Amino acid sequence: MGEGIGGEGKSRSILIAGAGPVGLVAALELARHGFAPRIVDDGAGPTPMEESRALGVNARTLTLLSPSGVAERIVAAAQPIEQFRVRSTEKTLIQLDTRQVRGRFSALRALAQGSTERLLIAALSAYNIVPEWQTTVVVDAISDFQRPEVTLHRADGTSERVRPDILIGADGAHSVIRKALGAGFPGEALEAYFYLADFRYADPVDTRYGEVSLFDPGMVARLPVAADIIRYISTLEDFENRIVHPAAVAEKTWTSQFRINFRHVEPMAKGNVFLAGDAAHIHSPAGARGMNLGIEDACWLAWLIAEGREQEYSALRIPAVKQVLKETYGLTRLVTMQNPLATAARNLFAPLFLRFGPARRALLQNIAGYDTARPPWIDWAE
Ligand SMILES: Cc1cc2nc3c(=O)[nH]c(=O)nc-3n(C[C@H](O)[C@H](O)[C@H](O)COP(=O)(O)OP(=O)(O)OC[C@H]3O[C@@H](n4cnc5c(N)ncnc54)[C@H](O)[C@@H]3O)c2cc1C
Repeated sequence: MGEGIGGEGKSRSILIAGAGPVGLVAALELARHGFAPRIVDDGAGPTPMEESRALGVNARTLTLLSPSGVAERIVAAAQPIEQFRVRSTEKTLIQLDTRQVRGRFSALRALAQGSTERLLIAALSAYNIVPEWQTTVVVDAISDFQRPEVTLHRADGTSERVRPDILIGADGAHSVIRKALGAGFPGEALEAYFYLADFRYADPVDTRYGEVSLFDPGMVARLPVAADIIRYISTLEDFENRIVHPAAVAEKTWTSQFRINFRHVEPMAKGNVFLAGDAAHIHSPAGARGMNLGIEDACWLAWLIAEGREQEYSALRIPAVKQVLKETYGLTRLVTMQNPLATAARNLFAPLFLRFGPARRALLQNIAGYDTARPPWIDWAE
């Protein structure tokens, strides 16, 4: 695929606000396409290693990170999730083999967000790009969306006004860039909370599978983080009482809780200001799509900028965002339902439905992230 703009285009100045996984991928992909973006973040460094946060890395993300070489480093570092099971208190309802999805990669692997970010930072350093930490983007309102002006405040008290040709807001759910666009963040907050705890065990444990245990009401999901660490995530506040630990617990390494929001901004751009990742859409962790969808935004945006077609970004990404939010909403409703009749019907019909090959394949395709438009710059079959 040819690059749509010449040398002058490649010298356009690009500022990325936020060095989370999405901002880092945007920087890496832009660098790979010949740009020299600047990336700033108000934090002191990447996500601390003990905060596993976005854990699932799907096959589409690995496809997207293959040209930069990061995919193979993720595969080497991540826990493969070979089996995925859904259990009720009495029996296994669903069992999926994630390796049965078509293509080069199995549907889902697990790697702590901090590890993914460090691999991306290492790959960026090969282009001499280093995130500028402790640098906060400050902007109230943008008057010229073609040449947006923002202020950078550093921890040492210095500040700088910059007017990049392109501004990318990858500054997370509370994005100041989104607020400066005046676009709002419509959607809804569910009543449900998700509770999360990572446990380190005294010995290595079986990390080759992920599991959801349904308790009617409520659920506890189990996902591997590392050879001796398992994450449990639940809709039940007292979920730790329901965990059957596979070995002696050495320590609880991280806990978190959050209310589930489904929100997205539309359009995802104005002039030369673009939003990507959590800055543009947030949803529940069911299906492990949050970070993966944002990484997809970043790769599309970098490719479109390289093609000189960045004004198509919002129109191309909105269908993918809506699709993933819809699927994630349905999945979240399935695991948070309270009505005893509805849960009985779910436990009866879901396994029957998934006995059909096409239904199983469709579910695997979704877990792999293959339910959104194929990246046209990847010239091999996923
Ligand atoms: C506690 C917690 C648990 C989570 N658990 C899961 C999970 O289990 N599964 C899952 O899929 N997802 C989970 N997520 C969500 C996941 O972390 C996000 O979807 C993912 O990180 C999105 O990446 P991002 O780069 O868009 O945003 P972020 O990772 O939020 O990165 C945004 C970056 O922008 C920086 N920033 C913000 N404002 C400014 C500013 N004004 N100037 C400069 N920098 C700024 C921030 O410091 C941050 O580094 C969790 C998130 C949290 C907070």
